[in-house]
Amino acid sequence: MRLDKLLANMGFGSRKDVKQLIKSKRVLVNDQVVKDSGLNINPIHDTVLLDGEKVEYKPYIYLMMNKPPGVISATEDKFDQTVIDLLPSKYKHYNPFPVGRLDKDTEGLLLLTNDGQLAHQLLSPKKEVIKTYYAKILGRVTKEDVAKFSKGVQLEDGYQTKPAVLNVLSGGDISEIEVSITEGKFHQVKRMFEAIDKKVMYLKRLSMGDLVLDKTLALGEYRELNAEELSYCQ
Ligand code: URA
Repeated sequence: MRLDKLLANMGFGSRKDVKQLIKSKRVLVNDQVVKDSGLNINPIHDTVLLDGEKVEYKPYIYLMMNKPPGVISATEDKFDQTVIDLLPSKYKHYNPFPVGRLDKDTEGLLLLTNDGQLAHQLLSPKKEVIKTYYAKILGRVTKEDVAKFSKGVQLEDGYQTKPAVLNVLSGGDISEIEVSITEGKFHQVKRMFEAIDKKVMYLKRLSMGDLVLDKTLALGEYRELNAEELSYCQ
């Protein structure tokens, strides 16, 4: 990989900026001052220093996003903005993809990574990773509904879901609930409520396994996972 490309990709500025850094003799590769910004380097085996600090090449990227509504959780879309479009180029070059899907109108926790193995671990039905959602439901969610969810409900296509834990936070014309499911069928939460004749008005994912949405992230914001969060995913 070209040195200027590597440094630009890692967020040290535009190609023009990093060319300037190299010209100013601030970059060393294997203890040699670099003169040629197009120098071909092996990011894993070569040691790159910028102002004496080691530039760590990371093959994988792990981002937590608070997905906003109106954005598609896919890498590309013909019509709509995708979650990848919300990222700056320093992350895009890793080719991240969303781990699982949230509907266009669903908000909340979305993990973006280029680590296919991790994605598989979290999405594999065998792993039964618990996903917890907060939702606003039209109508009063009753104890009977809680009991139905605890046994699993039958979706309109005949599929019997696994048991789900439903907690009613507040009742009324619109109920606030939290629901935890271990599957990831298409529109699963919405379809589970349809199965008990109720409608989801608002849906937000709060957690996936031990990974919990950072409450300080505004809609559309993202950050890299910290070491502890990363350990939950591996
Ligand atoms: N269940 C849904 O119905 N929609 C989502 O986006 C996620 C889970």
